[in-house]
Amino acid sequence: MDRDMRLATLARPRLALGPFGEAGRSGRRLSLDRGDDGIAWLLLDREDTAVNTFDARFFEELDAALKALEADPPKALVIRSSKPAGFAMGADVNEFRGLTDRAEAAARVAAANALYDRLERLATAKIAVIHGTCAGGGTELVLCCDLRLAIADASLSLPEIRLGLHPGLGGTARLSHLIDPVQAMTLMLTGGDVSARRAKRLGLVDAVIEERHVENALAAAIAGKLAPHRPGWRDRALRTRPVRMLAAWQMRRKADAKARPEHYPAPQALIHLWEEHGGDRAAMLEAERASFTDLLTGDTAQALFRVFALRGHLRARSRGTGHDPGHGIAHVHVVGAGVMGGEIAAWCALKGFRVTFTDPDLSAMGKAYAAACKLYERQIPRPPERIAARDRLIWDPRGAGAAQADLVIEAAPEKPELKRRIYFDLEPRLKAGAILATNTSSLSLKSLAEPLKRPQNFLALHFFNPVSRMPLVEVARHDATADAAFDRALAFTGALAKLPAPVAAAPGFLVNRVLMPYLLEALTLLDEGLAREAVDEAAEAFGMPMGPIELADQVGLDICLAVARTLGEAQGSSAPAIPRWLEEKVEKGELGRKTGAGLYAYRNGKAQKDRPKAPAGPQITDRLILPMLNTTVACLREGVVADADTADAGMIFGAGFAPFRGGPLAYARARGIAHVVERLDELAKAHGPRFAPDAGWEALGEPGTG
Ligand code: NAD
Repeated sequence: MDRDMRLATLARPRLALGPFGEAGRSGRRLSLDRGDDGIAWLLLDREDTAVNTFDARFFEELDAALKALEADPPKALVIRSSKPAGFAMGADVNEFRGLTDRAEAAARVAAANALYDRLERLATAKIAVIHGTCAGGGTELVLCCDLRLAIADASLSLPEIRLGLHPGLGGTARLSHLIDPVQAMTLMLTGGDVSARRAKRLGLVDAVIEERHVENALAAAIAGKLAPHRPGWRDRALRTRPVRMLAAWQMRRKADAKARPEHYPAPQALIHLWEEHGGDRAAMLEAERASFTDLLTGDTAQALFRVFALRGHLRARSRGTGHDPGHGIAHVHVVGAGVMGGEIAAWCALKGFRVTFTDPDLSAMGKAYAAACKLYERQIPRPPERIAARDRLIWDPRGAGAAQADLVIEAAPEKPELKRRIYFDLEPRLKAGAILATNTSSLSLKSLAEPLKRPQNFLALHFFNPVSRMPLVEVARHDATADAAFDRALAFTGALAKLPAPVAAAPGFLVNRVLMPYLLEALTLLDEGLAREAVDEAAEAFGMPMGPIELADQVGLDICLAVARTLGEAQGSSAPAIPRWLEEKVEKGELGRKTGAGLYAYRNGKAQKDRPKAPAGPQITDRLILPMLNTTVACLREGVVADADTADAGMIFGAGFAPFRGGPLAYARARGIAHVVERLDELAKAHGPRFAPDAGWEALGEPGTG
């Protein structure tokens, strides 16, 4: 959006200073200004951050602003944001962390709701002007207004469900009574964004305007010439009890298929709220508060607040250690266009980089290009931008792009000799400052760097499969990697909208090292006669997004075998055994999903599974999950990761470790460190030394420490 234009619009009516507009007052969240024309402007203007988030101080200032407005109601009240990035991101999630006392939470929820109710009741025309991002409590704030004008770049959402909540500032009742209630529920159940135009079609906003028309649109609105959206007869019919019951039944089925209600209770709570109270706005407002408070203080939401903070912890790493503020990368060259290289190339081009990609197998390149086009269809709504992304992805069978590249990412097969040969040929053709990164899953960076003349520019950028959906990239350096190259790689990862996890160059880094005992234990369970489906179900019941058998197929059995061998060599006699039949499968070319057969058979890319006959039980779950906890502790002790937060974040964002459990170390603490160590001892006695508790548990101490 045109920032100067918007700021000029904002500057114009600010005539008299209100009680919160004093320049320079530290920590300001709002400013209230009144013009001679009798119109008041309430600006969301959080002074200490680049975006508006609502914290306790915001609510204090909203209270003061409302008192002033109630005492002397203006002709109209305009609410908008002074931040270029958008209207508001909603509640400050940090304020919710640790809020587990129900009475205290209920009091805070009630107080914040009372303010929104007062705003809604204020005896004047209330008009919100929305630009950029308007999310959560921001959207709930505009729902208290009489009219909503959206600038064309605006996007609105109620994403609370992603944090294990549903809207809690009246949003459930206000939205489902403003627009088609089934659409309202879909918005809240998915948490997705709605563009300004779609919001207009839904009735969530009353007009979509360009920034330069704000003044005229406001004049028309204040003069009563802009009719607000009103729910139609169909919307009212959808709110009747029988329709609600039927629609709720369908919503429940869909929500259950997406996430287990015992792990993620918010969708069910939201559906219940609407089914019970969706016909009565006032009753729904009341019931929303109690339901929201239950979720807010519950284990799932509290764990997800931590995950939210962990995301920020990793995102901050993309700013590096201060040696080089930018990445200085415009052209990326990708070597190897198989499962990983193809997707890495596609993703880099999607994010604006010029990309050349090469592979001796032209059919692999063809498949990679076709998959990239499909990805762009899904991810880029506007055709000109889609074409531009395709144009940035350059087919380069001769590998000529290497000479222009600022970064080369190698994603050739996991064979050390092959990778070293590639570097030997490649390095003399690279620009002097170009970074050479490997996507290796398990090989030693030190040994891969042997043929290099400039080892200072060599590091690992370890992406996860599938690249388009996995948010993590492990960034690893070896002894000779220069700080500047490492910082550029961290910044580049941030520019790809991925979360960088800095890790040491140990075999398997963090994520594969921790996953491997889990995958191998799953294979041992198969050898003991358990059904594949039962093993997968045991892990999914714990909260893993995919069972270990299906995961091994997804990664590729050849890759799993290579990683297991490398890690086995590093660990010596305590390493879990690799079953012989796995090697035979790989020799036969049954490599998993990519070849259509592995541990499962595949039809149209989907594993053909039977229903497990009997649940596997907590013993089996412990055999799968506790080795991951144990290995995470070993990684922390050995310095593979610098701290517990990076370890938990790495496993959540790189392996999908049950987010609502807060990561392996958070789960160990919640279960009790002493108890976990005891269970590992029992398992070691029953099944062998691979379960022996790591020495690092002692340093973690009692729950809540470390
Ligand atoms: P893949 O077998 O699907 O792809 C490898 C590609 O490299 C093939 O298309 C092959 O034709 C090509 N290739 C062979 N020789 C080459 C050469 N000399 N120059 C350029 N390309 C050559 O393997 P993948 O799963 O994409 O794995 C690639 C790398 O990424 C490996 O190091 C692997 O450990 C790592 N990795 C894999 C995964 C995964 O889940 N599959 C995840 C993270 C990292």
